[in-house]
Amino acid sequence: MNQAQNITFTPAQADRLRELGQDFDEPLTFDTAALRETAYKKFEREQIARGKRRLATMKAEKGRPALPQLQEALARALTAEGFVQVMTPTIIPRKFLERMTIDDAHALHSQVFWVDHNKCLRPMLAPNLYEVSKNLLGIWKTPVQIFEIGSCFRKESQGRRHLNEFTMLNLVEWGTPMDERDERIRQLAAVVMKAAGIEDYSFEQEDSVVYGDTIDVVQGDVELGSSSKGPHALDPAWGIMEPWVGIGFGLERLIMTRDKAPNIHSVGRSVSYLDGVRLNIK
Ligand code: ATP
Ligand code: MG
Repeated sequence: MNQAQNITFTPAQADRLRELGQDFDEPLTFDTAALRETAYKKFEREQIARGKRRLATMKAEKGRPALPQLQEALARALTAEGFVQVMTPTIIPRKFLERMTIDDAHALHSQVFWVDHNKCLRPMLAPNLYEVSKNLLGIWKTPVQIFEIGSCFRKESQGRRHLNEFTMLNLVEWGTPMDERDERIRQLAAVVMKAAGIEDYSFEQEDSVVYGDTIDVVQGDVELGSSSKGPHALDPAWGIMEPWVGIGFGLERLIMTRDKAPNIHSVGRSVSYLDGVRLNIK
């Protein structure tokens, strides 16, 4: 085999180009190291120029990153559907996790950031939504529709699609007629996808570690959201007996997918990126 065809970008070069926003489906190959250096410089220059243009637009016009803009668009779309937004704490009691059956033996357990023995950073929004829903169901007639948008925390092995701190949208509707639940999940997913500006998505049956059988919202092999429905085995622990549907979406996943960002870190909370643009480009 011709050795020249084995010359690709070094791992450091490939990382740098990806950080800057350049993604290659297939690794490029070069005949000589000199040609590789020339190509690297050219791609890097182009990406830096693109980043500076985007930051200039940010300063002159846009003013806010995609993440808060998406939060706002989603809140508008869901309140138009009759949902009410709730804001609950990011630090939650251990007993809430236990009520979700997330104990030592559970797959999610090792991903939890403990704050002290009896508190943790929430790995999901569902426990707080259960708690709020239980009270609202005693006050409002069904359907009771609420949603939260906020940070969740999971210890992850830091791939291109996972953050330790990410932003979840979780919506839940209590009192959905039993025979309309699957259709309602599709309708509500469509509301969220429209607000997020994603046209190309599909549904997939999944086996969730918390909820058992669920329907996921996906684009290709990227999971955008996971739905679930009840009555569910978890419900009695929260004192609730109503049919329901719920879906949780990762906002950074939505933005990454819509904007074709090569890594999720560029669109999440960051000190190294502003709205997808790497900041070490002076
Ligand atoms: P995955 O299998 O991709 O790790 P999950 O099934 O564990 O995701 P869920 O518990 O279903 O995730 O959470 C709902 C949504 O939150 C996911 O569909 C995804 O969009 C998003 N999400 C979950 N974990 C992360 C993470 N670590 N970083 C960014 N987004 C995440
Ligand atoms: Mg899931």
